[in-house]
Amino acid sequence: MGEMYKLTVIPGDGIGPEVTAEAVDVLKSVAARHDLEFYTEEALMGGCAIDACGEPLPAETLAKCRQSDAVLLGAIGGPKWDTTDPDKPRPEQGLLGLRKELELFANIRPVRIFDDLIEASTLRPEVVRGVDLVVVRELTGGLYFGASAREGDRAYDTMDYRAFEVERLMRVAFELARKRRGRVHSVDKANVLESSRLWRETVDKTAADYTDVELIHQLVDNTAMQLIRNPGQFDVIATNNMFGDILSDESSMLCGSLGMLASASLGSGRPGLYEPIHGSAPDIAGENKANPIATILSVAMMFQYSFDLPEPAAAIERAVDKVLAGGHRTADIMSDGMNQVGTTEMGELIRRALD
Ligand code: NAD
Repeated sequence: MGEMYKLTVIPGDGIGPEVTAEAVDVLKSVAARHDLEFYTEEALMGGCAIDACGEPLPAETLAKCRQSDAVLLGAIGGPKWDTTDPDKPRPEQGLLGLRKELELFANIRPVRIFDDLIEASTLRPEVVRGVDLVVVRELTGGLYFGASAREGDRAYDTMDYRAFEVERLMRVAFELARKRRGRVHSVDKANVLESSRLWRETVDKTAADYTDVELIHQLVDNTAMQLIRNPGQFDVIATNNMFGDILSDESSMLCGSLGMLASASLGSGRPGLYEPIHGSAPDIAGENKANPIATILSVAMMFQYSFDLPEPAAAIERAVDKVLAGGHRTADIMSDGMNQVGTTEMGELIRRALD
């Protein structure tokens, strides 16, 4: 056997276990074809961890993740654990804690429009056809982590960045662009915000090491507009935590379906975290209706980003394309004349299409 990798799988809540089961099967099929070996181990996080151990991120889970080469997550949360009591544990504390503990500072969200699903977009086909972009969002700094307080009828949050946080994020973006179409849009609000002026200055300094990549500075309000007007102009969009939160959701909707979109959160040299962008979809949990493609494509990202193995990644993407071109659809992406399948059938079709 070839190289051995260690993977922690966190199925989570709701549809999480259903979609990760299909993704792990695809992973094992691809691995076998490429002479790679995976040792997988499951761990608890989110609502199921609160039920089992009273806390959303048990120490055992964190320890397993730290010892892994990568982590695959389904989704967490659900109405059972919703609470406004600040003293009660909440499922999403598990995910925030894991990102923090693994120092995952770069969130990567690709948006690729599948020709066969072009009708799912709310934008006209000629606007979205061929769109293939990636949003690289800073994940551990900025407005969501700066000084914040409420004083009587006054409240504030602070957008606080240090140059090293901008530089390490931009290196991820530039490296990614090198492997793609060689263009980075750095998005800020430098006409108004001091933190954005530091951002822009640091981006320019870092860009000196990547003169082969085209760099465009763009103001965030303009980017929000350009994403709807002409999304085809973008290759890599790099931005801060808050702008990235908003722009990545806006970009994902170009594609029209949550069930298709994968993501990666990366640190420097530590295990990366791979997960679909959708939540635990409690409304369809346990019904074999969930679309597993986002999680399966997250496995493709894992091959690419954590293991630098573009071939297995491309094999998974090709298999997904082939199954969609064959007219197979889960309920969320169903349209007239197509063949509706469940979660397990979709997983099986993709595994068979790997051949
Ligand atoms: P959601 O993404 O779970 O669901 C939104 C809608 O999309 C639902 O109608 C759902 O059925 C559908 N949907 C989502 N994924 C799908 C899939 N793979 N296939 C088919 N349909 C799919 O968002 P929500 O309803 O706002 O949140 C539900 C729970 O998930 C909440 O507890 C929320 O906190 C949690 N959540 C978790 C994550 C995460 O784990 N990273 C992310 C977002 C939301």
